[in-house]
Amino acid sequence: MNNYKLNYQAPVALFISIFLFLNFSAAQSGKNLSKPKNIIFLIGDGMGLSQISAGMVYRGGDLNLARFKRIGFCITQSSNNFITDSAAGASAFSMGEKTYNGAIGVDSLKKSKPTILEFAESNGLSTGLVATCAMTHATPAAYIAHQPSRNLYEAIAYDYIKTDVDVVIGGGQHYFDTRKDGYNLLDTLRNKGYEIADSTVDFTQLKASKFYAFTNAYHLPTMKAGRGNYSEKASLKAIDVLSKNKKGFFLMVEGSQIDWGGHDNDADYLAREMVDFDITIGKVLDWAEKDGNTLVVVTADHETGGFSLNGGSIKEGTVLGKFTTGDHTGTMVPVFAFGPGADAFTGIYENTEIFHKMYKLFGFKK
Ligand code: MG
Ligand code: ZN
Repeated sequence: MNNYKLNYQAPVALFISIFLFLNFSAAQSGKNLSKPKNIIFLIGDGMGLSQISAGMVYRGGDLNLARFKRIGFCITQSSNNFITDSAAGASAFSMGEKTYNGAIGVDSLKKSKPTILEFAESNGLSTGLVATCAMTHATPAAYIAHQPSRNLYEAIAYDYIKTDVDVVIGGGQHYFDTRKDGYNLLDTLRNKGYEIADSTVDFTQLKASKFYAFTNAYHLPTMKAGRGNYSEKASLKAIDVLSKNKKGFFLMVEGSQIDWGGHDNDADYLAREMVDFDITIGKVLDWAEKDGNTLVVVTADHETGGFSLNGGSIKEGTVLGKFTTGDHTGTMVPVFAFGPGADAFTGIYENTEIFHKMYKLFGFKK
């Protein structure tokens, strides 16, 4: 509430009183309508409004993001640059503090900061990470690793063995079992009680409550190259396993390659990746609607490509896209929220607020 520093008009004050009273009544009746048990956070890397629009056109006007009723914008600048990279962007989300481009889970003085995933672990919740890239890449890494540079892939993989994350599905097996230092981190993880699956195993059939499923040595293929419905399968599998914890769970799902289509200035690449991400969002929403105790938040770390739609046809599913850069841009990105606590995500705020809102909604004290 302390974001609202305007002079309250009487009707607003009355509305707030009624709102507080209703919340109080709900608490009295044993229901707590404003606190989620679970949070699923979906990051579309490089997903600005034009990327979302292109995805909608490719889907013939359909869009699961249109199912969200609570929408805001977040401001993406990093501590040292008007244009954030994905490391600083994901670290802002994961640890609630602005940091420099390239930082993974460390602040602007390179000091490690606990992440929302680590807070969830220490509070007894189950946790998971799903991505369409190597799990050592900046966005998933920022939830679990604490390194001064995003390029330290082997060090980032090593940080995974120091945490108790329950479910990890994605690429990057190379940094775990084919390392310069000779360690096989997969053996270490097995000794810690994890089941490890490689690309020969259908991860949807795993029975373990804690597992790593590596689909690729490095990144996953693009949608165009035939990734198929991996993203929705991986997300639903993670939810299935994590939701067995009665205390709740935190899951981060990344649509990693929307960004890469932007870097390549390839509208078809990014639109196909956007469609895949939106379909995944739809499956997650279906689950959350049934569950009733799950907050779903979707946003982006930044926009990529300075992408605009200069023409197209919804009927034919085509866009005429133009780009102003091969890099990220400094524009705000949308935030979509559904479920208990979703109201907290309306308005315009810094990307770091995403962490603080989630921390507060989970009710963590430490
Ligand atoms: Mg990323
Ligand atoms: Zn990028």
